[in-house]
Amino acid sequence: MPSNNQISDKASQIFRSLTDVNEMYGLLVDAVNDYAIFALDPDGYILSWNSGAHRLKGYTPAEVIGTHFSRFYTKADMDRNHPAYELEMALKNGSYEEEGWRVTKTGTQFWANVAITTLRDAAGVHRGFAKVTRDLTERKMAEDKLKEANLNLEEKVKERTAELAAAKEEAENAVAARDEFLSIASHELKTPLTSLKLQVQSRKRQLEKGNLKNFSAENFLKIVEQDDKQINRINRLVDDMLEITNIASGKLSLEVEHTDLGNLVKDVLFRFTTQFEVSQIKVTSDIAENVTGIWDRYRIEQVFTNLITNALKYGNKQPIEVTVKKDNNQASLIVRDHGIGIKSIDHERVFQQFERAVSASSISGLGLGLYICRKIIESHKGKIYVESELGQGSAFIVELPLN
Ligand code: ADP
Repeated sequence: MPSNNQISDKASQIFRSLTDVNEMYGLLVDAVNDYAIFALDPDGYILSWNSGAHRLKGYTPAEVIGTHFSRFYTKADMDRNHPAYELEMALKNGSYEEEGWRVTKTGTQFWANVAITTLRDAAGVHRGFAKVTRDLTERKMAEDKLKEANLNLEEKVKERTAELAAAKEEAENAVAARDEFLSIASHELKTPLTSLKLQVQSRKRQLEKGNLKNFSAENFLKIVEQDDKQINRINRLVDDMLEITNIASGKLSLEVEHTDLGNLVKDVLFRFTTQFEVSQIKVTSDIAENVTGIWDRYRIEQVFTNLITNALKYGNKQPIEVTVKKDNNQASLIVRDHGIGIKSIDHERVFQQFERAVSASSISGLGLGLYICRKIIESHKGKIYVESELGQGSAFIVELPLN
């Protein structure tokens, strides 16, 4: 049996070593530099502060012990009462872990991994919390960068896919438009050619039979006029087709010179005189003097010819008015008819390639004239547009800069 003295020696030895262990434990926690380790009382007030906490959050123990741990949270987290929520969860489940932004003494933020453990004594009484915080900012930054790179990549893939789909659709539309163009163009060319051919064959038969009475001077003039009309139609179609090839390959070159718009319009109208008379259409003009600019005369003639031809085609044989005027720094040419008109929804469309606002069977055409006009006017830095209502006639307006 050990003596009483021996027992008290052993007890004091155990007590000393226990004190040493506690001290050692305190030293160990304090020496951990990479983790902020600190204790909170049950209400979240800071009880201890290790060197890692000092390094990570910037506060010395004297500055922070006794204050509430919510000071390490962002304003947004405070507003949603997040610090209290963390303690509540730790109390309920024994521990709580999360990652989030925390604030240092200087106000900078770092991405923290936070673990809170509830501390209870041997009797199970809640004594507070242990909190371990790690700085994962670098990892977070790397992850964010990766996420951003992935997102950018996804965006790029999406954009590229959309571009490819659009290009595919455009190519398909172009092929469809070309096929439609070829079928309309061959049909359009065939109509005047067939009629010419039939005329020529019939005349040949008459001549072979010696039937000369149909070839009186008066009849002959009519025949030649008819031929001329068909040839003009073929000519215009071929011109349009060639022009469209030029425009498509970017070859619309301008040869500009001093041009008097009024004189140009008068010349073209003069050339149309017979056609106006034959079709019994009244054309009036109001042409200002000295509307001059540096333009490609041939191209502007082409535009005006196109507008007049359309006014004849779509004008319901009603009068046509032509105006040339000068406002500020701009010349205007207006061709107004009182024919079938154009729905407002089609005002822009009719200027596009192969687009028509009438059915192919009613009035023939390729849907290229206005497209070519717009290309010519745009290459002069001018504008061409239509003002019209269905059934109320149309006014095609060309505006050209004077300088
Ligand atoms: P095309 O006359 O060969 O069809 P355009 O490009 O000249 O080709 O005209 C495109 C379309 O615009 C025509 O098909 C027609 O529907 C419409 N259009 C052009 N001019 C007039 C006009 N003066 N009045 C009514 N519609 C017109």
